[in-house]
Amino acid sequence: MTAVTLSNITKQFGDVAAVKELDITIKEGEFFTFLGPSGCGKTTTLRMIAGFYYPSAGKVKFDDRDMTTVSPEKRNTGMVFQNYALFPHMTVFENVAFGLKVRKVNKTEVKRRVEDVLEKVRLKPFINRQVSQLSGGQQQRVALARALVIEPDILLLDEPLSNLDARLRDEMRNEILRLQREYGITTIYVTHDQVEALTMSDRIAVFNVGNCQQIGTPTEIYNQPVNDFVAEFIGETNLFEVKQRDEGLFCEDLNLLVHADTPGEEVFSKNENYKMSVRPEAIILSKTNVEGVNVLKGKVDLVQFTGESVHSFIKVNEGHATLKVTDLNRGPSTYLQEGSDIYVQLPPDQVRIVPVAKE
Ligand code: ATP
Repeated sequence: MTAVTLSNITKQFGDVAAVKELDITIKEGEFFTFLGPSGCGKTTTLRMIAGFYYPSAGKVKFDDRDMTTVSPEKRNTGMVFQNYALFPHMTVFENVAFGLKVRKVNKTEVKRRVEDVLEKVRLKPFINRQVSQLSGGQQQRVALARALVIEPDILLLDEPLSNLDARLRDEMRNEILRLQREYGITTIYVTHDQVEALTMSDRIAVFNVGNCQQIGTPTEIYNQPVNDFVAEFIGETNLFEVKQRDEGLFCEDLNLLVHADTPGEEVFSKNENYKMSVRPEAIILSKTNVEGVNVLKGKVDLVQFTGESVHSFIKVNEGHATLKVTDLNRGPSTYLQEGSDIYVQLPPDQVRIVPVAKE
């Protein structure tokens, strides 16, 4: 197993800084995800690890070996691309065997290893089928088998599920995790899909315009976002500006003196702007008035039924702001009436004050 260290790496394409002074250490055996919106530098970073690009500055290390300018074929990484990049007119066997033949592995060994990996990705019955005659999910498995068969030190996956429909994506997510655990291989996964990132990763790095905003476990990233960008990008949230006043933190949009347990007031600096973030599922609704802090009176503006959950949009502060509230679907008797009065409570231990992200 291999650890990957990126030290202060920058990649410049002409005037565009695709990646800026990035520091990340990926532990051996870890499932590590680069998550962020389109164009934020995820693929460029992955390509610097694979060796398809060399950094303009900084170092890439595998364990304590400096790989910064080592050519891709000498890195022993296995890569799976979004479009699979398979040879359509070759059979499954020929596609998977390709990398081993290039490495001049003998015929008996090629056969053994290809059969072995196809067994693992559950494609053995398709071994002689032409790739163009396979479904999208099956082609994805061939691409995975081809990456794994060379016994790579690091597995690199670039949006491997984005061409699949929702049901198949779910299935392949579990499949990839099962294989990753079975092989115990250090895996770096690129996606802009937060659900994929949260459900699969040991740790996630959240990117925005070439910068890494936060590194953490899925629960850390979701529950303790370091700024408004992370809070908004991962999951859904209600975000409002807050200002320090003599009496405490005040939110003008909600006309509310805000009580927030985390983080403590000592973290606030005069030079930064702050927002409050509260998740839709953390908000408590009540038809009768509630005692306590962070209580607002509102009107139900819109109720949206999604199947497993119900979203209610509540207008507060005389209609100046809207809060989104999410509840599990507990049956028709619990659905709110649009236009009805309602009380809203933002539990202080669920209100997070975050600085506004800098670029
Ligand atoms: P996506 O999710 O859309 O693939 P990404 O986060 O992977 O996006 P990158 O592909 O790493 O983003 O691109 C980061 C930035 O670098 C973008 O502004 C992109 O236009 C630019 N870029 C990427 N590759 C090149 C290149 N070969 N030449 C010039 N600019 C590039």
